[in-house]
Amino acid sequence: MKAKFSFEVFPPKQTMPVEVIYKTLEELSDIKPDFISVTCGAGGSSANAGGRMIEVADAIQNKYHRKAVAHMPCINLSKNDVSEMLKELDKRGIDSILALRGDKVPGIEPKKEFIHAVDLISFIRRETGDKFKIYAACYPEGHTESNDFDEDINFLKQKVDAGVDGLISQLFFDNNFFFYFIEKIRRAGINVPVEAGIMPVTNKKQIEKMVNICGASLPVKFRKILDKYGDNPDALKDAGIIYASEQIADLLARDADGIHLYVMNNVYVAHKIDDAIKNLL
Ligand code: FAD
Repeated sequence: MKAKFSFEVFPPKQTMPVEVIYKTLEELSDIKPDFISVTCGAGGSSANAGGRMIEVADAIQNKYHRKAVAHMPCINLSKNDVSEMLKELDKRGIDSILALRGDKVPGIEPKKEFIHAVDLISFIRRETGDKFKIYAACYPEGHTESNDFDEDINFLKQKVDAGVDGLISQLFFDNNFFFYFIEKIRRAGINVPVEAGIMPVTNKKQIEKMVNICGASLPVKFRKILDKYGDNPDALKDAGIIYASEQIADLLARDADGIHLYVMNNVYVAHKIDDAIKNLL
């Protein structure tokens, strides 16, 4: 089966007009990913953060004619918020959702109507049947809150059994973690396709922040790149693109189901990676 290729973009900050992302989408329009997913802050309901995510997903789907996948973190949403968001997505012809729990946002008391992503997935399936394609997140190195890898996989199995069509992985820099994880989940009876999350490094600060948040391990080869080129932004960007391209070539050669690129709205990086890998897909 042909490997899938997708991107992830994020909506502009609330202080900026939503239209600023149109230029990015325009510049990405010569690349033909299977879908473009749009992140959504966990702090909002359909009226604010979700609303902006929906606007961007709408532009991807209806203005730029690519398939949009709407991220939906549920920790601070009520069932009513989710129902409203589903209606809005359906109205705009968006039929795919990445169902997430999200993380606690300082100063916001979780609504507690959805405790884990599995609750959201069950709710969407119960309310809308097979109308939406549902993706969920997975963690090749384990989720940061989890102390037990096998337990994490058991919860993943429950999540998939609730009605997930495909998984998208957290970013990682060492493919060995990904292939070990795939072996484990297949043995646990999780058979849906898994896209590998790849983030090309474009600057040192960004990578330190991401690694802090998601706990991805940095292999020695990668650390050497950061040590050598960390203070030279152009060199680091080039090395980061080469590193991500090599990671992708290895993943595809070993039959990964797909690649999900965290492009971080960086058009230059998206084009470079697309050029490097388009004959491999
Ligand atoms: P869950 O599947 O609920 O898992 C969270 C933790 O709870 C895990 O440790 C798991 O083992 C445990 N767990 C799961 N089910 C149960 C259960 N039934 N009982 C007890 N424990 C359980 N965040 C955003 O806010 N916005 C985004 O747009 C966004 N996009 C993302 C895209 C991708 C591809 C990924 C990988 C992550 C994204 N995130 C986003 C981050 C995500 O919200 C966090 O990683 C969050 O901490 C977990 O979300 P989840 O859906 O995996 O949660």
